[in-house]
Amino acid sequence: MIRFEQVCKRYPNGHQGLDHLSFHIRTGEMVFITGHSGAGKSTLLKLIMCMERPSSGQVFVGGQNLRDLGSHDIPYLRRQVGVVFQNHQLLFDRTVFDNVALPLIINGTPRDEVGRRVRAALDKVGLLKKESMYPIALSGGEQQRVGIARAVVHKPALLLADEPTGNLDPELSAEIMGLFEDFNRVGVTVIIASHDLPLIAELDHRMLTLSEGRLLADGE
Ligand code: ADP
Ligand code: ADP
Repeated sequence: MIRFEQVCKRYPNGHQGLDHLSFHIRTGEMVFITGHSGAGKSTLLKLIMCMERPSSGQVFVGGQNLRDLGSHDIPYLRRQVGVVFQNHQLLFDRTVFDNVALPLIINGTPRDEVGRRVRAALDKVGLLKKESMYPIALSGGEQQRVGIARAVVHKPALLLADEPTGNLDPELSAEIMGLFEDFNRVGVTVIIASHDLPLIAELDHRMLTLSEGRLLADGE
């Protein structure tokens, strides 16, 4: 599903995001990317989404070499990927329903299908009853669940998350990780950048450890 071959990313200011990074993630895997702040976790996720381009080396997503994608192909790539952010980036002047519907509206899904898909996604994260509320009225954990519903509403084959539990207490964090495991169980490939080592240690998944943009360890 994802292959990095000798990927380097140097930012215009000279900072080295990734340094000759190679790894392979198979379809259906659930993988944590860990390492200290500045290790290159976000850079890795941005390269998968084509939000950044490698300085050298190659990135493959679903068999496609991202080098061959032009700017017109990138929306198509993003439609196959769901992304969850730490600060969930919800629109606070829209209801829960409208927030989750956004990716479907953007890709032109028919109206009746939008309602059905949004409710299926909200059901999976346990928020079906809160569809007409505004995010401000929800707890931090619930807001993150809305972010997850929005990331999966278009049924992506690949789900990426950047520090999805960064602002949550340990109990809520474990619940959120459980949701990711649910999606992984139905076949979604899941990649989560997190430096929450105690939480990751409780879960039984592959872990790629980065340090200064290099792969320090790869294992359980
Ligand atoms: P992490 O997510 O593990 O904290 P990042 O991928 O954000 O790591 O950062 C890796 C390195 O790349 C750091 O040295 C950081 O300062 C640098 N970096 C990240 N994004 C940018 C950017 N947009 N411009 C310049 N340097 C950046
Ligand atoms: P429908 O296919 O009728 O829209 P659902 O949205 O409930 O119904 O999903 C049908 C099946 O697909 C369920 O087993 C569900 O868990 C699974 N599923 C949900 N999200 C994804 C996803 N992102 N990728 C793959 N399968 C998914």
